[in-house]
Amino acid sequence: MLKDKRLFLFDIDGVIRLGDKIIDGSIQLYDYIKKIGGKSIFITNNSTKGAKDYVQTFKNYGFDVDESNFLTALTITVDYLKKHHSKDLIYVMGTNSLFEELVKNDINVTKDYNKNIKVALVGYDNELTFDKVVTTCKVLQTLDITYLATNVDLKCPVSYGFIPDCGGIVKFIEIATDKEPKFLGKPAPEMVLKALEVTNFNKEQTLVIGDRFYTDIACGINAGVDTCAVLTGEINKDDIKTTSYKPTYIFDSVKELLDELIR
Ligand SMILES: [Mg+2]
Repeated sequence: MLKDKRLFLFDIDGVIRLGDKIIDGSIQLYDYIKKIGGKSIFITNNSTKGAKDYVQTFKNYGFDVDESNFLTALTITVDYLKKHHSKDLIYVMGTNSLFEELVKNDINVTKDYNKNIKVALVGYDNELTFDKVVTTCKVLQTLDITYLATNVDLKCPVSYGFIPDCGGIVKFIEIATDKEPKFLGKPAPEMVLKALEVTNFNKEQTLVIGDRFYTDIACGINAGVDTCAVLTGEINKDDIKTTSYKPTYIFDSVKELLDELIR
């Protein structure tokens, strides 16, 4: 039941904001969830920013947030590497800030080819060079390694259209190498499972709210929790008939979700 939900896991872009504009009702919904003793966590496939980077931006929007309100693909990647590859040498193709974040978390990383590499990690990289791509191709084809990528998103919206996101960069490399990574962000269930772990709510009390089927809604389904699609971002009403990721609930926007909760 919608009224029993207490843990609300929101995608950000297309759900809470469009560009830098806050979507109507999102702050009121956030405050309402707090009032009923619930928790909101914003879950995003951004692999270049951690929770800390989002707090000030959201405070400026008017949300009463702290670091516990955010889970990013970066957080999930750090967590995953600590859990499964704490002793392994990890080759990283990504931004400097991704690399630095891994170093800060005592993860053993390199940007250069080395025969002791056990894991290759690819993230969104707006500092990408062809040299990096060549090194990654060599790592993937000459070493017996685990291949990971931070997030499956193919493209990233910008003011004039789209540019390649992590999933797009991975496709580019796949054409040459035939190698496919395991993706760590949404739709893998880890983000939802991590949110359940750090709060004390159960799956029945949890709702994932998103504007994209193959990441947000699929993530909720994979984690075994209810999902809610909003139509303020990528999804339109016709897509709902054709998708294999059927959301539990559909609302025009977070405002209508709030209206239903307080009704
Ligand atoms: Mg979105």
